Amino acid sequence: MTLSPLITLNDGHSIPQLGLGTWPLDDEQVTAAVVHALEAGYRHIDTAVKYGNEEGVGNGIRASGVNRSEIFVTTKLDGQFQGEDRAVAGLEGSLTRLGLDYVDLLLIHWPLPARDDFVSTWKTFERLQAEGKVRSIGVSNFKPAHLERLLAETDVVPAVNQIQLSPAITREAEREFNAGHGIVTESYSPLGGAGASVLTAPLLRQLGEKYDKTPAQLVLRWHIEKGLVVIPKSGNPERMRENLDIFDFSLDRQDLAELAILDEGPGAGNDSDATGH
Ligand code: NDP
Repeated sequence: MTLSPLITLNDGHSIPQLGLGTWPLDDEQVTAAVVHALEAGYRHIDTAVKYGNEEGVGNGIRASGVNRSEIFVTTKLDGQFQGEDRAVAGLEGSLTRLGLDYVDLLLIHWPLPARDDFVSTWKTFERLQAEGKVRSIGVSNFKPAHLERLLAETDVVPAVNQIQLSPAITREAEREFNAGHGIVTESYSPLGGAGASVLTAPLLRQLGEKYDKTPAQLVLRWHIEKGLVVIPKSGNPERMRENLDIFDFSLDRQDLAELAILDEGPGAGNDSDATGH
């Protein structure tokens, strides 16, 4: 059974570098997916209140028989839980639905800068961490400007920033900012999102022959070589195993450099100032 390597976060906890994305699986689908994933060797599951599937994730964890302490569970609180103290009820709800007494990583799902609540939300996250109901705290869809405010006005540096990132949407400035502050960058939509749009590039087929790997495996390996945490979603057990089977090879420097032709440039991807829940 393949297991993902671990990355150490700035708070000393470890996160499996590859995990399972679960959006847009419903409760029933996600229970089956989590059981398959844990059987295959996944030890990291990504969910969110917004996905409406936390109960299914918890059921899958229990049905798998894998020990809770071996599994890294992330959930995210969306806008309804932003503002002073609101995250307390948010986390309680998630723990109840998951049937767990702690989560490994709690994220602010979107900064929602127009509301200007993310600093007070983060202070509540700091308290929840101190109380032990969450091991690590982080953010999602945060730009450097949002993080600069957190760094200036609060005490705990986020452990993780989960952002849209793939060979097509490379977010170099964001990655550099995160790394410079000890924040691990986690890639969501790592294959290009629903429909896996990144995988159709002819270059990936060519390189696939050289490495005897699929386009998805090459793309996921690209994330690993860049030191990113990556959470591909699949509801298909065969593709889940395929996506985990990337730790027995590495891309050479020239091929990594060639993959830069997939980069759609700094304007590509969503803009977390303009969108959000
Ligand atoms: P992904 O880039 O993970 O792509 C998922 C798509 O790729 C699905 O259509 C899946 O189909 C397909 N796929 C998976 N593996 C393979 C493979 N080996 N070969 C071919 N196709 C494949 O996109 P997501 O947007 O789902 O991102 C991953 C996760 O990130 C989400 O599930 C969620 O947990 C998180 N996320 C976080 C966000 C945030 O705001 N923080 C926003 C969006 C996502 P199939 O299931 O049929 O295999």
